[in-house]
Amino acid sequence: MELLKTREELQSWVNNRSSRPRALVPTMGALHQGHASLIDAAVKLVDSGDVLTTIFVNPTQFGPNEDFASYPRRLEADLTLCESHGSTAVFAPEAHHIYDSNSSVSIHESKLSRRWCGASRPGHFDGVCTVVAKLFLLAQPNTAVFGEKDFQQLAVIQRLTRDLNFPVEIVGCPTVREADGLAMSSRNTYLSEEERAAAPILHRTLRSVANDISRGKFPSPEVAREEIIERISSETLARIDYVDVVDSDSLEPLDSFDNHLPRLLAAVFFGNIRLIDNVGAPQSIR
Ligand code: AMP
Repeated sequence: MELLKTREELQSWVNNRSSRPRALVPTMGALHQGHASLIDAAVKLVDSGDVLTTIFVNPTQFGPNEDFASYPRRLEADLTLCESHGSTAVFAPEAHHIYDSNSSVSIHESKLSRRWCGASRPGHFDGVCTVVAKLFLLAQPNTAVFGEKDFQQLAVIQRLTRDLNFPVEIVGCPTVREADGLAMSSRNTYLSEEERAAAPILHRTLRSVANDISRGKFPSPEVAREEIIERISSETLARIDYVDVVDSDSLEPLDSFDNHLPRLLAAVFFGNIRLIDNVGAPQSIR
């Protein structure tokens, strides 16, 4: 496996291997089994081609009061994980290889980014779109693999790819979870013991309400949403940022279940740590 640290190294690697199919797996590092599942999926997708994993804590997707400085950085362990899962190369640049010091162009997605994480984290999806577009241009992948864990991000990237005509197939992979259902996240390590014990209520509640939606228990998405809020609020360590029941494709909030595939989205703080999760309610078409 090759470690590429500069834009020039990446570009010459890409030029030397231009005839091979290439899958890109963008990450911010502190890799866990969720990221590993994306690399596994990428290896299968390109068959005998290349899998390029990127490890870059992207400054432009963090707000001024967010955890950019304290975001976990563990390059050595990350490289071991990438190699053991079959990544052909890792691109792990310093920020100045991605952003010029006086760069003044960014990409703004104006519909899917408006609510939820976009509203709670102003500018976040501009940073995501900009860095993903840059990685597509530099790495020129055929395929790029993202996790459903960040469901809104996946939708925004699909839109970015469509609207800017990137010749890249976007593949979404299911969320990998701990045994108690908590979605794996690089931020989980920052939870205190009590917060870690409380955090599974997020997935437990989404899963259970999704099942009840599928069984037709709720007269409307609003009643389902209120049920999620009530159950999560029963945990004293949890503070809800947002909860919504949306259409899986448009991400618009639902006012009826008719002819929709509902997706339950939530972001909840446990202490200072903000966790996100989402679950689909697949059998709800009635
Ligand atoms: P991050 O390093 O958190 O920016 O995530 C990089 C990629 O890994 C994104 O496409 C995430 O959606 C994906 N990812 C993060 N956590 C998980 C998980 N638990 N299961 C599957 N994919 C994940």
